[in-house]
Amino acid sequence: MTPVGKRLMEGAGAPWQRGRLICHCLLVDTETRLLLVDTGFGLRDIADPVARIGRPLKLLLNPRFAESEAAVRQVQALGYDPADVTDIVLTHHDHDHVGGVDDFPNARLHVHAIEAESIRAQLTLHDKVRYSGQPELMGRREGDRWSEYSIGGDQWFGFRAVRQLHGLPEEIAIIPLPGHSRGHVGVVIDTGGIGRPRWLVHAGDAFMHPDEMLTDPRCPLVFKVFQSLVQADATSRLYNAQQLRELATRDDVEVINSHNPYYWDRARATAQSVEVGAQ
Ligand SMILES: [Zn+2]
Repeated sequence: MTPVGKRLMEGAGAPWQRGRLICHCLLVDTETRLLLVDTGFGLRDIADPVARIGRPLKLLLNPRFAESEAAVRQVQALGYDPADVTDIVLTHHDHDHVGGVDDFPNARLHVHAIEAESIRAQLTLHDKVRYSGQPELMGRREGDRWSEYSIGGDQWFGFRAVRQLHGLPEEIAIIPLPGHSRGHVGVVIDTGGIGRPRWLVHAGDAFMHPDEMLTDPRCPLVFKVFQSLVQADATSRLYNAQQLRELATRDDVEVINSHNPYYWDRARATAQSVEVGAQ
């Protein structure tokens, strides 16, 4: 996504230049299951962006709707068949996270019950704007393709209510990170820790800028304003950001988010250095 305001987002460049934001998805091959964390925008969004996300959001975010960037094409480029994606874990239901769900017709969707309930009920104007079009998605996905998770579960590094996911190995779990949306979750993956921190935590939209994870946190004003405008619950969001900050100080935990390219660029650089080292 390339909204105007590069200087405001990145601290360099001109305010009228376009910045760079991404939709950071994960593909996890567990040998028995093929799992996606979020989908980003999908082929249907690329085919008809105005119908799918509306003209105002299209103008504001200016997503680069290139088919090669859709998760389904990237999964194929990695040598996998999208029909073999068995599971999609959704951090939350904003369109930039669920737009590509239809590109994976055989995947079971895992979502927090509170998020599902917010979509069904649409009690506030905020929810109505946010989830317009989502009941259609849910309607088609309900039944045994749709797994919902209520509050409860184990403790994990100060987070209450860590939950295992139906049919998935115990190395993958979700932690509730409400705030941005009511049923927002983070996805925790135990990577085994070979050549990297053991735990990878995809925090979705629970925070926007890497500097928010510093012990002396900072956040560019534009992200502060954005987060305040879209949040469902300020107190929970700020509490969870603090919890994530404490987590991020650990050597055995790597915390990433959805939209900041910093984490993507870092992952690419690490992957390249591993490849070079292996040669
Ligand atoms: Zn988002």
